[in-house]
Amino acid sequence: MKDNQDSLYIFGPCSLESLEQITPVAALIKRHGLKYLRTQLFKPRTNPDSFQGLGKDGEIILETLRKTYSKDELKFVCEACSTDQLAIIAPWASVIQIGARNMQNFELLKAVGKYISDDHDFVLLKRGFANTVDEWLESARYLIQGGVPKNKVVLCERGTRSLTSPTGVQLDFIAAMEAKKAGFKVITDPSHGSKRAEFVIPLAKASLQLGLDGLMVECHPRPTESFSDAKQAISIEEAEAFIKSSLQGRSAN
Ligand code: PEP
Ligand code: MN
Repeated sequence: MKDNQDSLYIFGPCSLESLEQITPVAALIKRHGLKYLRTQLFKPRTNPDSFQGLGKDGEIILETLRKTYSKDELKFVCEACSTDQLAIIAPWASVIQIGARNMQNFELLKAVGKYISDDHDFVLLKRGFANTVDEWLESARYLIQGGVPKNKVVLCERGTRSLTSPTGVQLDFIAAMEAKKAGFKVITDPSHGSKRAEFVIPLAKASLQLGLDGLMVECHPRPTESFSDAKQAISIEEAEAFIKSSLQGRSAN
């Protein structure tokens, strides 16, 4: 098997919940020569009573994972919703995610560059679910002007609100392909981009077929028990079958 060292394939649960939850996902990533694991500690939730993430308390789980996997073997991807959260995650996250809701949080975008070092692989900028491609690219410019090198900005298409899709969201491949023309790597998130597990793998395959640069996929050892976004979580087994059939030997570079 050719390894997937340079590939922009990110797998993991919507939220980090426990060591017991994340361990099989980390093992899946390692088994297949991938490297990026979603380790989301801070969850921007619509409902204030929903699970908000483990917050800083989750760091102990990541420290425990580090005893098994080195920083090169397993890289943590985490969203920051504020500058305070940036300061918390920057020391250990290899990928800093700016989520859809914060795509136009300009003060946050300007601050990211202050935290970026050689230890960070890239900043993942998700498109807001009602933002145009032009607005997305302008937000990328905020990151760059704030000090993030252009080659460390990766864009993620995560779907837009839809009046007609039965799930209320539509993964916009045209937007993703258009953004690529501006010289950025563009990946898709078929999980938030469909909101339903049954559509995740078909959309992931379509993304690869279209020549996009990678994927972010939510998976969980027990999808229906996920603390957040349970309906769109695929199982480890489903993720593994997809990796074996579609990703093995692929590289984004
Ligand atoms: C996420 O990826 O965890 C997330 C919250 O996605 P989005 O910002 O696209 O809604
Ligand atoms: Mn989610």
